[in-house]
Amino acid sequence: MASAEGKVRSRPQHVGQHNFPVVDNCLHIGGQPITTLAERAGDRAFYAYDSSVMSQRVTELKAQLPSAIQLHYAIKANPMPAVVQHMSGLVQGLDVASGAELAVAIATGTASADISFAGPGKSDADLRAAVAAGVIIILESSTEMHRVAALAGETGTLPKVAIRVNPDFELKASGMKMSGGPKPFGIDAEQVPEVMQVLANLPLDFVGLHIFSGSQNLRPESLIEAHDKTFDLALRLAEQAPRPLRWLNIGGGFGVPYFPGEQTLDLKPIMHNLQRLVDELLAAMPDVEIVMELGRYLVAEAGLYVCQVSDKKVSRGQTFLITNGGLHHHLAASGNFGQVIRKNYPVCIGNRVTSDTLENVSVVGPLCTPLDILGERMPLPAADIGDLVVLFQSGAYGFTASPHLFLSHPPPLEFLV
Ligand SMILES: *Cc1c(COP(=O)(O)O)cnc(C)c1O
Repeated sequence: MASAEGKVRSRPQHVGQHNFPVVDNCLHIGGQPITTLAERAGDRAFYAYDSSVMSQRVTELKAQLPSAIQLHYAIKANPMPAVVQHMSGLVQGLDVASGAELAVAIATGTASADISFAGPGKSDADLRAAVAAGVIIILESSTEMHRVAALAGETGTLPKVAIRVNPDFELKASGMKMSGGPKPFGIDAEQVPEVMQVLANLPLDFVGLHIFSGSQNLRPESLIEAHDKTFDLALRLAEQAPRPLRWLNIGGGFGVPYFPGEQTLDLKPIMHNLQRLVDELLAAMPDVEIVMELGRYLVAEAGLYVCQVSDKKVSRGQTFLITNGGLHHHLAASGNFGQVIRKNYPVCIGNRVTSDTLENVSVVGPLCTPLDILGERMPLPAADIGDLVVLFQSGAYGFTASPHLFLSHPPPLEFLV
């Protein structure tokens, strides 16, 4: 327990399991001490991503994934071009959600047939680029279908399209629900048969369906239920399709543990169930290519966010570490990216991983808002100005999911090691 001065003596919490070795009490990533990367970063906070941890994650997943399922990387989780390049060598395809992401995906050399482009409200420029590249365009509305058909007429091409279905079910216990009920994503399942009939008479190459039901799920029973319903819906819709499905994207939704009490997802029951569903589907539709798209699950645990203590103070008994990083660099860790209740990400002091002297501290950033919290009342090794605060589980929805411009401090750097 904390005494009045905030001093505690116990093992640090939250460091827990992670993928990074500790040598001489200093955290290492990619074979180098975190202090070396901090020197390279100068006075800037930074993200560091470990390519070998990403490779290991994909290898372990592929060993369990039914072999008939193609694994795609949804690059919005971490679109750093070097990361996408690395991931493109590990997975069978890439999923993008903007014109700029499309350009990054194409630059990796991934075949256009293995790139799909989802997202509501695609601009004319986005659609033109997608048609020119020949990627699979995931139609998010009937209007978008007609816009792509018009472009097809103009350019004399036959764009590959899939219909994104807004399912008639929800992925239960999902961190972020993306389906069921009224949603801006996709076409409601009950409207899809009619839309497919219209599509059949347009200059479009209908490849299949995309059914994505949610994100950040850590409960195997919820994912199993969602997979059952996804395959069932796909089979029902396929019966009403103008031609046999060649492509079925079943989404992803696999979560990673962030907070105390959360456990790594148990893949075994999920994969066992998926194998049964895949076998049944392929019996009915032998030529369909089944795709699973994952973002967070493939990259989150490979990334660290590192900032430096620039001031330390005690306010009415509470010790604050003020850093050169914060909400503007790592919105999710501040608790403001869709969380209902703020919880602490796993944190350590990178150059002082364990210590006999722990201190109960709050880690904050330099922004003039009480929302700028990276860790609230956490027992950490007693840290000084210049020490490095490291947040684990930061490889996904970090750098690009944060409002860098807020208060005009310098943005963080990114390293792939
Ligand atoms: C965001 C998104 C993903 C990736 O979700 P994760 O939770 O990061 O795996 C996949 N597909 C679509 C359509 C998305 O919008």
